[in-house]
Amino acid sequence: MNRETSRDLYDRALSVLPGGVNSSVRATQPYPTFVRRGDGAHVVDVDGNRYLDYVMGYGPLLLGHDLPQQVQSAVQRAASEGPMYGAPTEVEVDLAEFVVRHVPSVEMVRFVNSGTEATVSAVRLARGHTGRNKLVVMQGGYHGAQESTLVEGDAEHPRPSTSGIPQSFARETLPVPFNDEAAVREVFERHGDDIAGVLVEPMLGNNGIVLPVDGYHDTLRDLCDEYGSLLIFDEVITGFRVGGLQCAQGKFGVTPDLTTFGKIVGGGFPVGAIGGRAEILEAFTPSGDVFQSGTFSGHPVTMAAGLETLRFAADEDVYDHVDALGERLRSGLVDVLADHAPEYTVVGTDSTFKVVFTRANTPAQDGACSTGCAQRPDCARFEACPKTGADVGNAETERWERLFRPFMREQGVLLPANQFETQFVS
Ligand code: PMP
Repeated sequence: MNRETSRDLYDRALSVLPGGVNSSVRATQPYPTFVRRGDGAHVVDVDGNRYLDYVMGYGPLLLGHDLPQQVQSAVQRAASEGPMYGAPTEVEVDLAEFVVRHVPSVEMVRFVNSGTEATVSAVRLARGHTGRNKLVVMQGGYHGAQESTLVEGDAEHPRPSTSGIPQSFARETLPVPFNDEAAVREVFERHGDDIAGVLVEPMLGNNGIVLPVDGYHDTLRDLCDEYGSLLIFDEVITGFRVGGLQCAQGKFGVTPDLTTFGKIVGGGFPVGAIGGRAEILEAFTPSGDVFQSGTFSGHPVTMAAGLETLRFAADEDVYDHVDALGERLRSGLVDVLADHAPEYTVVGTDSTFKVVFTRANTPAQDGACSTGCAQRPDCARFEACPKTGADVGNAETERWERLFRPFMREQGVLLPANQFETQFVS
Protein backbone atom coordinates (compact mmCIF):
# COMPACT_ATOMS: atom_id res chain seq x y z
CA MET A 1 0.00 0.00 0.00
CA ASN A 2 1.49 3.34 -1.05
CA ARG A 3 1.28 5.87 1.80
CA GLU A 4 4.05 8.25 0.72
CA THR A 5 1.98 11.41 0.81
CA SER A 6 0.90 10.68 4.40
CA ARG A 7 4.55 10.16 5.34
CA ASP A 8 5.61 13.43 3.70
CA LEU A 9 2.76 15.35 5.36
CA TYR A 10 3.75 13.93 8.74
CA ASP A 11 7.32 15.14 8.15
CA ARG A 12 6.00 18.64 7.47
CA ALA A 13 3.57 18.44 10.40
CA LEU A 14 6.32 17.45 12.85
CA SER A 15 8.01 20.82 12.19
CA VAL A 16 4.98 22.95 12.99
CA LEU A 17 2.62 20.88 15.17
CA PRO A 18 3.85 19.31 18.43
CA GLY A 19 4.07 15.58 17.77
CA GLY A 20 2.73 16.32 14.28
CA VAL A 21 -0.92 16.31 15.38
CA ASN A 22 -3.60 18.33 17.15
CA SER A 23 -4.83 15.49 19.38
CA SER A 24 -2.35 13.01 20.85
CA VAL A 25 -4.22 9.84 19.92
CA ARG A 26 -3.91 10.60 16.20
CA ALA A 27 -0.11 10.18 16.12
CA THR A 28 -0.17 6.55 15.02
CA GLN A 29 3.30 5.23 14.18
CA PRO A 30 5.32 5.14 12.04
CA TYR A 31 3.11 7.92 10.63
CA PRO A 32 -0.62 8.65 10.68
CA THR A 33 -2.99 8.13 7.78
CA PHE A 34 -3.81 11.62 6.54
CA VAL A 35 -7.39 11.65 5.31
CA ARG A 36 -8.56 13.45 2.20
CA ARG A 37 -12.29 12.75 2.40
CA GLY A 38 -15.02 10.56 3.78
CA ASP A 39 -17.33 8.36 1.75
CA GLY A 40 -20.18 6.65 3.60
CA ALA A 41 -18.63 4.10 5.96
CA HIS A 42 -15.22 4.64 4.33
CA VAL A 43 -12.47 7.23 4.23
CA VAL A 44 -10.02 7.88 1.43
CA ASP A 45 -6.51 8.94 2.38
CA VAL A 46 -4.27 11.49 0.68
CA ASP A 47 -2.62 8.69 -1.36
CA GLY A 48 -5.98 7.50 -2.67
CA ASN A 49 -6.24 4.38 -0.46
CA ARG A 50 -9.76 3.53 0.68
CA TYR A 51 -10.49 2.17 4.17
CA LEU A 52 -13.51 0.89 6.03
CA ASP A 53 -13.64 3.30 8.97
CA TYR A 54 -14.47 2.20 12.52
CA VAL A 55 -12.92 5.31 14.09
CA MET A 56 -15.81 7.49 12.93
CA GLY A 57 -14.20 10.63 14.26
CA TYR A 58 -13.91 8.91 17.68
CA GLY A 59 -17.68 8.88 17.98
CA PRO A 60 -19.47 11.89 16.52
CA LEU A 61 -20.31 10.34 13.14
CA LEU A 62 -23.44 8.32 13.89
CA LEU A 63 -24.48 8.60 10.24
CA GLY A 64 -21.05 7.97 8.74
CA HIS A 65 -19.27 10.40 6.46
CA ASP A 66 -22.05 11.27 4.03
CA LEU A 67 -24.43 13.62 5.75
CA PRO A 68 -28.05 13.18 4.61
CA GLN A 69 -29.38 15.98 2.43
CA GLN A 70 -31.37 17.58 5.26
CA VAL A 71 -28.24 17.82 7.44
CA GLN A 72 -26.12 19.17 4.57
CA SER A 73 -28.70 21.79 3.68
CA ALA A 74 -29.08 22.95 7.28
CA VAL A 75 -25.31 23.24 7.70
CA GLN A 76 -24.86 25.13 4.43
CA ARG A 77 -27.75 27.46 5.18
CA ALA A 78 -26.40 28.27 8.66
CA ALA A 79 -22.88 28.85 7.32
CA SER A 80 -24.00 30.99 4.39
CA GLU A 81 -26.20 33.24 6.52
CA GLY A 82 -23.11 34.26 8.52
CA PRO A 83 -21.06 31.83 10.58
CA MET A 84 -21.90 33.11 14.07
CA TYR A 85 -23.16 36.16 15.94
CA GLY A 86 -22.50 36.15 19.68
CA ALA A 87 -26.26 36.54 20.04
CA PRO A 88 -28.89 33.85 20.60
CA THR A 89 -30.44 32.04 17.61
CA GLU A 90 -33.59 29.95 17.22
CA VAL A 91 -31.75 26.74 16.38
CA GLU A 92 -30.08 26.46 19.81
CA VAL A 93 -33.54 26.61 21.44
CA ASP A 94 -34.74 23.92 19.01
CA LEU A 95 -31.81 21.61 19.81
CA ALA A 96 -32.17 22.16 23.57
CA GLU A 97 -35.90 21.32 23.31
CA PHE A 98 -35.06 18.16 21.37
CA VAL A 99 -32.59 16.99 24.02
CA VAL A 100 -34.99 17.82 26.87
CA ARG A 101 -37.80 15.95 25.12
CA HIS A 102 -35.79 12.74 24.71
CA VAL A 103 -33.34 12.41 27.60
CA PRO A 104 -35.30 11.52 30.74
CA SER A 105 -33.20 13.38 33.33
CA VAL A 106 -32.61 16.56 31.35
CA GLU A 107 -34.79 19.63 31.93
CA MET A 108 -32.31 22.28 30.78
CA VAL A 109 -29.16 22.36 28.67
CA ARG A 110 -26.10 24.62 28.38
CA PHE A 111 -24.20 24.15 25.12
CA VAL A 112 -20.41 24.45 24.98
CA ASN A 113 -17.76 23.53 22.40
CA SER A 114 -16.21 20.22 23.43
CA GLY A 115 -16.68 17.26 25.72
CA THR A 116 -13.83 18.59 27.84
CA GLU A 117 -15.54 21.94 28.26
CA ALA A 118 -18.74 20.12 29.22
CA THR A 119 -17.09 18.10 31.99
CA VAL A 120 -15.12 21.13 33.25
CA SER A 121 -18.34 23.12 33.54
CA ALA A 122 -20.30 20.21 35.05
CA VAL A 123 -17.67 19.74 37.75
CA ARG A 124 -17.68 23.47 38.53
CA LEU A 125 -21.48 23.39 38.65
CA ALA A 126 -21.51 20.41 41.02
CA ARG A 127 -19.00 22.11 43.29
CA GLY A 128 -20.87 25.42 43.16
CA HIS A 129 -24.24 23.79 43.78
CA THR A 130 -23.12 21.65 46.71
CA GLY A 131 -20.46 23.95 48.18
CA ARG A 132 -18.12 20.93 48.31
CA ASN A 133 -14.81 20.20 46.56
CA LYS A 134 -14.26 16.48 46.20
CA LEU A 135 -15.05 14.52 43.07
CA VAL A 136 -15.29 10.74 42.75
CA VAL A 137 -14.11 9.37 39.37
CA MET A 138 -13.49 5.89 38.00
CA GLN A 139 -10.00 4.45 37.49
CA GLY A 140 -9.68 4.08 33.71
CA GLY A 141 -12.43 6.62 33.07
CA TYR A 142 -11.81 9.62 30.82
CA HIS A 143 -13.48 13.00 30.87
CA GLY A 144 -11.32 15.06 28.54
CA ALA A 145 -8.18 17.12 29.03
CA GLN A 146 -9.10 18.71 32.34
CA GLU A 147 -7.38 19.29 35.68
CA SER A 148 -9.95 17.66 37.95
CA THR A 149 -10.04 14.31 36.20
CA LEU A 150 -6.53 13.69 34.83
CA VAL A 151 -5.83 11.96 38.11
CA GLU A 152 -4.68 8.41 38.81
CA GLY A 153 -3.97 6.30 41.88
CA ASP A 154 -6.69 5.62 44.42
CA ALA A 155 -8.90 7.67 46.71
CA GLU A 156 -6.30 7.78 49.48
CA HIS A 157 -3.35 8.45 47.14
CA PRO A 158 -4.57 10.42 44.12
CA ARG A 159 -1.90 11.97 41.89
CA PRO A 160 -1.95 13.89 38.60
CA SER A 161 -1.72 11.59 35.57
CA THR A 162 0.15 14.23 33.55
CA SER A 163 2.71 16.87 34.27
CA GLY A 164 1.27 20.36 34.50
CA ILE A 165 -1.34 19.62 37.15
CA PRO A 166 -0.58 20.56 40.76
CA GLN A 167 -0.74 17.78 43.36
CA SER A 168 -3.02 20.10 45.35
CA PHE A 169 -5.65 19.81 42.56
CA ALA A 170 -5.38 16.02 42.47
CA ARG A 171 -6.08 15.87 46.22
CA GLU A 172 -9.70 16.85 45.51
CA THR A 173 -10.24 13.84 43.21
CA LEU A 174 -11.05 10.37 44.49
CA PRO A 175 -10.46 7.60 41.90
CA VAL A 176 -12.25 4.29 42.56
CA PRO A 177 -12.41 1.05 40.54
CA PHE A 178 -15.46 0.88 38.23
CA ASN A 179 -18.06 -1.75 39.16
CA ASP A 180 -16.71 -2.13 42.70
CA GLU A 181 -19.60 -1.29 45.04
CA ALA A 182 -17.63 -1.89 48.23
CA ALA A 183 -14.86 0.50 47.16
CA VAL A 184 -17.16 3.42 46.40
CA ARG A 185 -19.18 2.80 49.55
CA GLU A 186 -16.00 2.99 51.60
CA VAL A 187 -14.96 6.25 49.94
CA PHE A 188 -18.35 7.77 50.76
CA GLU A 189 -18.07 6.57 54.36
CA ARG A 190 -14.73 8.37 54.69
CA HIS A 191 -15.35 11.50 52.60
CA GLY A 192 -19.10 11.63 51.93
CA ASP A 193 -19.73 15.05 53.45
CA ASP A 194 -17.05 16.59 51.20
CA ILE A 195 -18.10 14.89 47.97
CA ALA A 196 -19.66 17.28 45.43
CA GLY A 197 -20.35 14.52 42.94
CA VAL A 198 -19.55 11.25 41.24
CA LEU A 199 -18.49 11.67 37.61
CA VAL A 200 -18.87 8.41 35.71
CA GLU A 201 -19.16 7.22 32.13
CA PRO A 202 -22.23 4.91 32.05
CA MET A 203 -19.89 2.40 30.44
CA LEU A 204 -16.14 2.95 30.28
CA GLY A 205 -15.56 4.00 26.68
CA ASN A 206 -11.94 5.04 26.74
CA ASN A 207 -10.62 1.87 28.33
CA GLY A 208 -11.70 -0.87 26.00
CA ILE A 209 -15.41 -1.00 26.64
CA VAL A 210 -16.42 -1.94 30.15
CA LEU A 211 -20.15 -2.29 30.75
CA PRO A 212 -21.66 -1.70 34.18
CA VAL A 213 -22.54 -4.79 36.21
CA ASP A 214 -26.20 -4.97 37.17
CA GLY A 215 -26.93 -2.60 40.04
CA TYR A 216 -23.67 -0.62 40.02
CA HIS A 217 -25.21 2.65 38.88
CA ASP A 218 -28.09 2.17 41.33
CA THR A 219 -25.52 1.98 44.11
CA LEU A 220 -23.95 5.24 42.90
CA ARG A 221 -27.40 6.84 42.74
CA ASP A 222 -28.25 5.69 46.28
CA LEU A 223 -24.95 6.88 47.73
CA CYS A 224 -25.30 10.30 46.08
CA ASP A 225 -28.82 10.62 47.48
CA GLU A 226 -27.74 9.55 50.94
CA TYR A 227 -24.83 12.00 51.11
CA GLY A 228 -26.31 14.92 49.14
CA SER A 229 -23.81 14.55 46.26
CA LEU A 230 -24.62 14.86 42.56
CA LEU A 231 -24.51 11.92 40.18
CA ILE A 232 -22.99 13.13 36.90
CA PHE A 233 -23.15 10.84 33.87
CA ASP A 234 -20.52 11.60 31.26
CA GLU A 235 -22.39 10.65 28.09
CA VAL A 236 -19.93 12.30 25.70
CA ILE A 237 -19.48 8.92 23.96
CA THR A 238 -22.72 7.16 24.89
CA GLY A 239 -25.05 10.15 24.37
CA PHE A 240 -27.32 9.52 21.35
CA ARG A 241 -25.22 6.43 20.61
CA VAL A 242 -26.01 3.84 23.30
CA GLY A 243 -29.67 3.54 24.23
CA GLY A 244 -30.75 5.60 21.21
CA LEU A 245 -32.31 8.99 21.86
CA GLN A 246 -32.71 8.26 25.58
CA CYS A 247 -28.95 7.67 25.82
CA ALA A 248 -27.25 5.19 28.15
CA GLN A 249 -29.15 6.49 31.18
CA GLY A 250 -32.37 5.32 29.52
CA LYS A 251 -30.86 1.97 28.61
CA PHE A 252 -29.52 1.34 32.11
CA GLY A 253 -32.53 2.88 33.85
CA VAL A 254 -30.67 5.39 36.00
CA THR A 255 -31.49 9.07 36.53
CA PRO A 256 -28.38 11.20 36.97
CA ASP A 257 -28.56 14.77 38.30
CA LEU A 258 -26.31 16.09 35.54
CA THR A 259 -25.26 14.72 32.16
CA THR A 260 -22.44 15.81 29.90
CA PHE A 261 -22.77 15.40 26.14
CA GLY A 262 -20.48 15.94 23.17
CA LYS A 263 -19.75 14.26 19.85
CA ILE A 264 -23.07 13.22 18.21
CA VAL A 265 -25.13 16.11 19.62
CA GLY A 266 -23.11 18.43 17.34
CA GLY A 267 -23.55 16.33 14.20
CA GLY A 268 -19.79 16.23 13.52
CA PHE A 269 -18.98 19.81 14.50
CA PRO A 270 -17.25 20.93 17.75
CA VAL A 271 -19.71 20.61 20.62
CA GLY A 272 -20.34 19.81 24.24
CA ALA A 273 -23.35 20.24 26.51
CA ILE A 274 -24.32 20.01 30.15
CA GLY A 275 -27.85 18.91 30.89
CA GLY A 276 -29.78 18.20 34.05
CA ARG A 277 -32.41 19.29 36.50
CA ALA A 278 -33.46 22.91 36.04
CA GLU A 279 -32.88 23.72 39.68
CA ILE A 280 -29.19 22.77 39.29
CA LEU A 281 -28.61 24.11 35.76
CA GLU A 282 -29.94 27.50 36.82
CA ALA A 283 -26.95 27.85 39.10
CA PHE A 284 -24.97 28.70 35.94
CA THR A 285 -24.55 32.40 35.24
CA PRO A 286 -26.44 34.52 34.37
CA SER A 287 -29.33 32.95 36.34
CA GLY A 288 -27.01 31.73 39.12
CA ASP A 289 -23.53 32.37 40.44
CA VAL A 290 -21.43 29.58 38.88
CA PHE A 291 -19.58 31.31 36.07
CA GLN A 292 -19.89 29.77 32.62
CA SER A 293 -19.38 31.42 29.24
CA GLY A 294 -18.14 30.86 25.67
CA THR A 295 -17.72 32.90 22.48
CA PHE A 296 -18.60 29.96 20.23
CA SER A 297 -21.11 28.21 22.52
CA GLY A 298 -24.35 27.32 20.75
CA HIS A 299 -22.63 27.90 17.40
CA PRO A 300 -25.37 28.06 14.73
CA VAL A 301 -23.64 25.67 12.30
CA THR A 302 -23.08 23.10 15.05
CA MET A 303 -26.61 23.47 16.40
CA ALA A 304 -28.10 23.01 12.92
CA ALA A 305 -25.95 19.94 12.27
CA GLY A 306 -26.80 18.41 15.65
CA LEU A 307 -30.52 19.07 15.37
CA GLU A 308 -30.89 17.69 11.84
CA THR A 309 -28.71 14.66 12.66
CA LEU A 310 -30.88 13.77 15.64
CA ARG A 311 -34.12 14.45 13.75
CA PHE A 312 -32.89 12.16 10.98
CA ALA A 313 -31.96 9.49 13.55
CA ALA A 314 -35.42 9.73 15.08
CA ASP A 315 -37.35 9.75 11.80
CA GLU A 316 -35.37 7.05 9.98
CA ASP A 317 -34.98 4.39 12.70
CA VAL A 318 -31.22 4.88 12.60
CA TYR A 319 -30.66 3.21 15.98
CA ASP A 320 -32.44 0.01 14.96
CA HIS A 321 -30.19 -0.09 11.93
CA VAL A 322 -26.80 0.67 13.53
CA ASP A 323 -27.51 -1.43 16.61
CA ALA A 324 -28.35 -4.42 14.41
CA LEU A 325 -25.13 -3.88 12.46
CA GLY A 326 -23.21 -3.70 15.75
CA GLU A 327 -24.82 -6.92 16.96
CA ARG A 328 -23.99 -8.68 13.70
CA LEU A 329 -20.39 -7.51 13.79
CA ARG A 330 -19.89 -8.49 17.44
CA SER A 331 -21.38 -11.93 17.01
CA GLY A 332 -19.28 -12.47 13.85
CA LEU A 333 -16.18 -11.52 15.81
CA VAL A 334 -17.23 -13.89 18.61
CA ASP A 335 -17.40 -16.73 16.04
CA VAL A 336 -14.00 -15.87 14.57
CA LEU A 337 -12.43 -15.71 18.02
CA ALA A 338 -14.10 -18.97 19.11
CA ASP A 339 -12.25 -20.65 16.22
CA HIS A 340 -8.90 -18.91 16.56
CA ALA A 341 -8.41 -17.26 19.97
CA PRO A 342 -11.20 -18.14 22.40
CA GLU A 343 -9.36 -16.49 25.30
CA TYR A 344 -10.07 -13.04 23.89
CA THR A 345 -13.22 -11.09 24.55
CA VAL A 346 -15.57 -9.18 22.30
CA VAL A 347 -17.05 -6.27 24.18
CA GLY A 348 -19.52 -3.54 23.35
CA THR A 349 -23.20 -2.82 22.97
CA ASP A 350 -25.48 -1.06 20.49
CA SER A 351 -23.22 0.37 17.75
CA THR A 352 -19.95 0.07 19.71
CA PHE A 353 -17.44 -2.78 19.73
CA LYS A 354 -13.93 -3.76 20.64
CA VAL A 355 -11.86 -6.91 21.02
CA VAL A 356 -10.01 -7.00 24.34
CA PHE A 357 -6.98 -9.26 24.59
CA THR A 358 -7.63 -10.48 28.12
CA ARG A 359 -5.67 -13.72 27.83
CA ALA A 360 -5.19 -13.84 31.61
CA ASN A 361 -8.91 -14.13 32.21
CA THR A 362 -11.15 -17.16 32.27
CA PRO A 363 -11.35 -18.85 28.86
CA ALA A 364 -14.58 -18.75 26.93
CA GLN A 365 -16.99 -21.52 27.70
CA ASP A 366 -19.26 -21.31 24.72
CA GLY A 367 -18.19 -18.27 22.74
CA ALA A 368 -21.52 -16.54 23.21
CA CYS A 369 -20.86 -13.25 24.89
CA SER A 370 -20.91 -9.54 25.17
CA THR A 371 -23.55 -8.60 22.70
CA GLY A 372 -25.13 -6.10 24.99
CA CYS A 373 -25.51 -8.35 28.01
CA ALA A 374 -24.82 -5.45 30.40
CA GLN A 375 -22.51 -7.77 32.33
CA ARG A 376 -25.22 -10.06 33.62
CA PRO A 377 -23.89 -12.64 36.07
CA ASP A 378 -25.97 -15.34 34.34
CA CYS A 379 -24.00 -14.85 31.12
CA ALA A 380 -21.75 -17.82 30.35
CA ARG A 381 -18.78 -15.51 29.86
CA PHE A 382 -19.40 -13.13 32.77
CA GLU A 383 -16.07 -13.98 34.37
CA ALA A 384 -14.12 -13.28 31.17
CA CYS A 385 -15.59 -9.83 30.60
CA PRO A 386 -13.52 -6.90 31.83
CA LYS A 387 -15.14 -5.28 34.89
CA THR A 388 -12.67 -2.51 35.67
CA GLY A 389 -10.27 -0.23 33.84
CA ALA A 390 -7.40 -2.32 35.21
CA ASP A 391 -8.79 -5.48 33.56
CA VAL A 392 -8.32 -3.79 30.20
CA GLY A 393 -5.05 -2.11 31.17
CA ASN A 394 -3.65 -5.53 32.09
CA ALA A 395 -4.70 -7.07 28.76
CA GLU A 396 -2.17 -7.68 26.00
CA THR A 397 -2.35 -4.14 24.74
CA GLU A 398 0.88 -4.30 22.69
CA ARG A 399 -0.48 -7.34 20.92
CA TRP A 400 -3.56 -5.38 19.98
CA GLU A 401 -1.38 -2.58 18.62
CA ARG A 402 0.77 -4.96 16.56
CA LEU A 403 -2.02 -7.01 15.12
CA PHE A 404 -4.83 -4.58 14.70
CA ARG A 405 -3.25 -1.35 13.66
CA PRO A 406 -0.65 -2.04 10.99
CA PHE A 407 -2.21 -5.33 9.93
CA MET A 408 -5.79 -4.15 9.72
CA ARG A 409 -4.73 -0.96 7.95
CA GLU A 410 -3.00 -3.03 5.29
CA GLN A 411 -6.30 -4.90 4.89
CA GLY A 412 -8.05 -1.57 4.34
CA VAL A 413 -9.68 -1.21 7.77
CA LEU A 414 -9.06 1.84 9.96
CA LEU A 415 -9.18 1.30 13.71
CA PRO A 416 -8.31 3.61 16.60
CA ALA A 417 -4.71 3.85 17.70
CA ASN A 418 -4.90 1.54 20.70
CA GLN A 419 -6.73 -1.11 22.69
CA PHE A 420 -8.53 1.52 24.74
CA GLU A 421 -10.59 3.61 22.31
CA THR A 422 -14.10 2.49 21.44
CA GLN A 423 -14.84 1.53 17.83
CA PHE A 424 -18.06 2.60 16.16
CA VAL A 425 -20.37 1.28 13.48
CA SER A 426 -22.13 3.97 11.43
N1 PMP B 1 -15.74 12.50 28.11
C1 PMP B 1 -15.69 11.32 27.47
C2 PMP B 1 -16.41 10.14 28.02
C3 PMP B 1 -14.96 11.22 26.29
O1 PMP B 1 -14.90 10.04 25.65
C4 PMP B 1 -14.30 12.36 25.78
C5 PMP B 1 -13.49 12.33 24.49
N2 PMP B 1 -13.39 11.15 23.83
C6 PMP B 1 -14.39 13.55 26.50
C7 PMP B 1 -15.13 13.59 27.65
C8 PMP B 1 -13.72 14.79 25.99
O2 PMP B 1 -14.35 15.26 24.84
P1 PMP B 1 -13.57 16.22 23.83
O3 PMP B 1 -12.48 15.40 23.23
O4 PMP B 1 -14.61 16.65 22.85
O5 PMP B 1 -13.04 17.35 24.62
